[in-house]
Amino acid sequence: MIPTEIRADFPILSEICYLDSAATSLSPEPVLAAMLEFEHVYRANVGRGVHRLAQVASQKYWDAHQKARRFIGAEGGELVFTRNTTEAINMIAWGLPWQNGDGIVTTLLEHHSNLLPWMRLRDQKGIDLQLIAPAADGALDLADFERAITPDTRLVAITHASNVLGNLVPVREIARICRDQGALLLVDGAQSVPHIPVNVERLGCDFLCFSGHKMLGPTGTGLLWMRRPEIEPLLLGGGAVDQVSTSGYTLASGYTRFEAGTPNIAGAIGLSRAVEYLEALGMEDVKRHEQALTRRMLEGLAGIPGVRVLGPGPAGDRIGVVSFTVGDMHPHEVATILDEEADIMVRSGHHCCMPLMTHLGIPDGTVRASLHCYNNADDVDRLIETVGKIAGGA
Ligand code: PMP
Repeated sequence: MIPTEIRADFPILSEICYLDSAATSLSPEPVLAAMLEFEHVYRANVGRGVHRLAQVASQKYWDAHQKARRFIGAEGGELVFTRNTTEAINMIAWGLPWQNGDGIVTTLLEHHSNLLPWMRLRDQKGIDLQLIAPAADGALDLADFERAITPDTRLVAITHASNVLGNLVPVREIARICRDQGALLLVDGAQSVPHIPVNVERLGCDFLCFSGHKMLGPTGTGLLWMRRPEIEPLLLGGGAVDQVSTSGYTLASGYTRFEAGTPNIAGAIGLSRAVEYLEALGMEDVKRHEQALTRRMLEGLAGIPGVRVLGPGPAGDRIGVVSFTVGDMHPHEVATILDEEADIMVRSGHHCCMPLMTHLGIPDGTVRASLHCYNNADDVDRLIETVGKIAGGA
């Protein structure tokens, strides 16, 4: 059970109905307090100084990595802080030693951030890029992966959960195919890690990319976990090296190799507090809470004439991301009315998934309501009631 009292940790919820957590989540007061404590009490740069503030800041920054590692069940490998999922994916695209004849397999479900880096490799390095198309509800056919992944496939890059349709992708089964063919597996966990228990050992992936700002952490924070940290670092400079002379340098080991320059220290501290917050709620409970609300939302919206709900139904394997259209109204118009008439914040448009929208035949996109642990049944009912009124007048 998620205690209803947690809503007090997100004061803006007393003014608005926030249903846009798939874009970015709200941050609870303890996360903001942890960041303010850094600023007030021990602000210093990390990794370099010997004075006491530098020691405290460095220790907390290191701890933040350990907490994030535990959160995704990483027993080995390396966890690196990034700005967001996009940066994490680009680090892999840039850092892997691509060779002639390498192939990449991905899907049409992907966010542009898990598509454009691979398209650039196709266009600039001649990498073979295969795009697997989902069914209308987002479901992917494993037989397509069996066919597409061959010994030439260097990397398979897939989302764990669609940020448009909400369906969960069978990553463990895809990981098995990757292992059989010797391909690396990158999982875009931007929409899964914040909402369901995710364990990299159980998933069997080689890379997991996700965003701190979607899991109650501050904006400007993201994470990259690598089973084998063998990529070339994107940036070189202060902090990333052990030894430098005019004739050469030795890169540092550990996460610092991939985090050249002064990092977002307050962000990392806030993110680690967000991880503790989610752990205290329990990710199984977060998942159950959001599943129950999702069911309520799907059933309510499906009962409104003129509303078309996309993605898997209430019984499907899904997260709390619900896309819908209202008659032939433009999604932006619906989202604007929801805000103006009922203080409901939802996202509308293509959700950075233009090829998916083309594939689904809805170029204007959808209205998307998305949940997090702080939402309740009243939020869902308010959405259903207001969409009902809009559809009635549409
Ligand atoms: N992948 C998915 C599935 C997403 O939903 C998002 C964010 N909407 C991203 C990647 C990109 O995340 P960020 O903007 O934090 O880089």
